[in-house]
Amino acid sequence: MPRAMSATMSTHEIPLSRPDITSAEMDAVEAVMRSGRLSIGPVQEQFEQLVAARTDREHAVACSSGTAGLHMALLALGIGPGDEVITTPFSFIASSNVILMAGARPVFVDICPKTLNMDPQKLEDAITPRTKAILAVEALGNPAYMPEYEQIAAKREIPLIEDCCEALGCAIKGRACGSFGRVGVFGFYPNKQITTGEGGMIVTSDKRLADMCRSLRSQGRPIAGALPTASPATPGNAGSATMGSWLLHERLGYNYRLSELHAAVGVAQMRRFDQIVQRRQAVARMYMERLMSNPDIILPTLPAESVMSWFVFVVRLSTTYTRDERDRIIAGMRRHDVGAADYFPCIHLQPFYRERFGYAPGDFPIAESVSARTIALPFFNDLTEREADFVSQTLGLMLSRENLKRT
Ligand SMILES: *Cc1c(COP(=O)(O)O)cnc(C)c1O
Repeated sequence: MPRAMSATMSTHEIPLSRPDITSAEMDAVEAVMRSGRLSIGPVQEQFEQLVAARTDREHAVACSSGTAGLHMALLALGIGPGDEVITTPFSFIASSNVILMAGARPVFVDICPKTLNMDPQKLEDAITPRTKAILAVEALGNPAYMPEYEQIAAKREIPLIEDCCEALGCAIKGRACGSFGRVGVFGFYPNKQITTGEGGMIVTSDKRLADMCRSLRSQGRPIAGALPTASPATPGNAGSATMGSWLLHERLGYNYRLSELHAAVGVAQMRRFDQIVQRRQAVARMYMERLMSNPDIILPTLPAESVMSWFVFVVRLSTTYTRDERDRIIAGMRRHDVGAADYFPCIHLQPFYRERFGYAPGDFPIAESVSARTIALPFFNDLTEREADFVSQTLGLMLSRENLKRT
């Protein structure tokens, strides 16, 4: 966002996140508006091709959000009532909600304290005859264990769904996030590596699965009827007076489409993607340099042979800190106009999960212990060296203030 547009906010405020929108995105949206074709058109297909190419997948299906994409992926795999899906309690709530939306039951397994992703051994131990899928998340974009999860899924003949909503541009052992398992799903909310305002993308090399998602995306229309050439602007049944397959619905579907306007923002962002990733890596390095000598701060642990595009920059306080101390540190940073947040509270301890499944503190001790000590720092493409200085100094100040209270 141009600085001038945020001038009405506090001039010193360093927000947690800020979208990076240039004139390329604005021009692309204007071109769509002038074209007269606002939905189901060529720009969505262009966006799909760009993301498919970037993630080494044959098919990509754009949709209205990451949540919508995950919901369709589960439905397309035939997951429903009576099924169990193994997933992580340390994530944004959508990765688990989509399992409930499909009518199935999430089965949580605890995480590894270093990478913050599901412990592969615990994952394998949790598989039962009712397990119909593994829904793995690259927590905070960390691609750790994706190859291991893929192997377990293959060995046990269970599909792996990759919730890579935080990992566009990340990779491990030369493989892009989004390329593991049967299907991957990205999200494009404004705080992600790229944004379309709201939006998502399913990626897969399974044509039937992609076709099913295209149908689910557009009210359960037959595959051909759900494609651009058959939209009302150009009825599929050439020469016929009817709307052809446009008004034929073969299954319960949704309106999970992405408009051409949103897709245009995505195309412009994907064209600048290398530059976006370089900027995010530079900002992450700025924080690493400034924080690595503080013994109270645990920096992100990255697996060998991995590439990070950095969804957010989350540090952890050492185990001597309590949740209350962490919360006071975040509140103190905010008082100093530094956007900070507690990414992520454990999903199993969210009110409606506790109520419905009877979860209680202590059920997933590692996830809970990690989640009590995380602090997300301001992170966006044009964060400056001076802003990184200010954020790091403010964090240091708040830490010493808590330390003083103890003595
Ligand atoms: C952002 C996110 C989602 C959901 O994406 P939306 O586009 O906001 O629906 C799902 N899972 C994870 C892990 C996310 O971070």
